[in-house]
Amino acid sequence: MSAASDLTDIAFQTSISPDGGETYDIGQVLTSCPQTNELLDINYDWDRVPVPASMREFERRWSNRRNPLDFSGVWRFRELLPFAPEDRIVTIGEGQTILQRSDYVARYAGLKPGQLSLQYEGLNPSGSFKDNGMTAAATHAHMVGAKLAACASTGNTSASLAIYAGVSGLFQVVVFVGSGKIAYGKLSQALDYGALTLQILGDFDDALRQVQDVCREAGIYLCNSVNPFRLEGQKTIIYRILEGLNWEVPDWIVVPGGNLGNSSAFGKALLELKQLGLIAEMPRLAVINAAGANTLYELYEQRGLRWNGGRPEQALVDAFYKDMDARNRRANTLASAIEINRPVNLKKCLRALDACRGVVRECTDEEILDAKAMVGAGGFGCEPASAASVAGVRALRREGVIAASDRVVCILTGHQLKDPDATVGYHAEPLDPKLAQRGINRRLYQNAPTVVENDLTAILDAIKRLQKQ
Ligand SMILES: *Cc1c(COP(=O)(O)O)cnc(C)c1O
Repeated sequence: MSAASDLTDIAFQTSISPDGGETYDIGQVLTSCPQTNELLDINYDWDRVPVPASMREFERRWSNRRNPLDFSGVWRFRELLPFAPEDRIVTIGEGQTILQRSDYVARYAGLKPGQLSLQYEGLNPSGSFKDNGMTAAATHAHMVGAKLAACASTGNTSASLAIYAGVSGLFQVVVFVGSGKIAYGKLSQALDYGALTLQILGDFDDALRQVQDVCREAGIYLCNSVNPFRLEGQKTIIYRILEGLNWEVPDWIVVPGGNLGNSSAFGKALLELKQLGLIAEMPRLAVINAAGANTLYELYEQRGLRWNGGRPEQALVDAFYKDMDARNRRANTLASAIEINRPVNLKKCLRALDACRGVVRECTDEEILDAKAMVGAGGFGCEPASAASVAGVRALRREGVIAASDRVVCILTGHQLKDPDATVGYHAEPLDPKLAQRGINRRLYQNAPTVVENDLTAILDAIKRLQKQ
């Protein structure tokens, strides 16, 4: 494979709307189409890209780990996101993540042994999948010479942007977080990595609206997932899943849904691979909302909103948000990374669901926390939002939508240590009153610590007692 250094003129930006028309060059900083106001895609003139004949060819780069671009789990697939000259790529070794078969979690979800794998995106440098996208956004920011970048965040986006700014030293960042909801592991990262941190007196949806206005007003480079370059990086999660499955396509890919950037990126990745003849069939996609932040579930499963060839019925969306505002409904879930009521990538996600015969489900916080405990007991663990994927598989198995013999991959989006309060809250006794207030009073897989006297005999007795249980 040849280098991708001469490829900048083959990438361009276009509206996702079929009524778009215009294309914009990749040197422009846009987060929506100036003509249609729709989200933008990065598209490529694939005839001019040296795409390999088979995904297996990317394996050659495994033996060249001293080249940071070949080492990166994102950029070793750079022919599939060829928008950047190689000398502009900003990488910090992201994407060294693993696909791990878990029979323990398979049993919990109701799948046959060998059929469930967990894609541990928490193993990224900042501890969440966001790094896959942020390396691409940071690269584009570097290409256009941005000196200040910003994002609104439920926590992980800010941690990721902050680490790229800190390590690369190429730009400063300002992060907008909502008040009170951010998990401490994530807030601690933004502070530690030196980001200017603004706590907006509002929730994530408020912070996102503000950051978009502020960036437009002040010419700051915006790194939320309305930035189409971020999604280019997130496509590589799909490539690594296929790599982990020896380039076979699973029956199902299951992902938690918040702002819907990930599910959107997955759909784009799979459509492109199909178009390029690099996969023969499409997997099915399941996007899992928290019940307390279930806009996609409501619109897609309850009201029948569909991609509809790029012209989804806007009136359905408008009516839904109007009603939400009238009731002053706010997103509310312990799975803080998906506590989002106005997913910015809604339309792109509809396209992904259309391409992958997708389904959407909602899971309660109890189901999510139980699933999280099972992931923890059977593997490396994850943060609450990530476990929505496993809870979702379990629900889809119960319904019979997923078969016991189906091959399923769950994306574990964030690291176990991101939100220790949620974990300790679940396992520790007595029940955290804050959780009881939210109607959470069941702990199926609790592993509570035992208090014991500071005494040898007492300790030995306690261990014997606990072993018998
Ligand atoms: C951002 C995030 C999500 C939601 O992903 P979207 O692309 O916004 O749908 C889920 N889990 C974790 C841990 C996240 O950080």
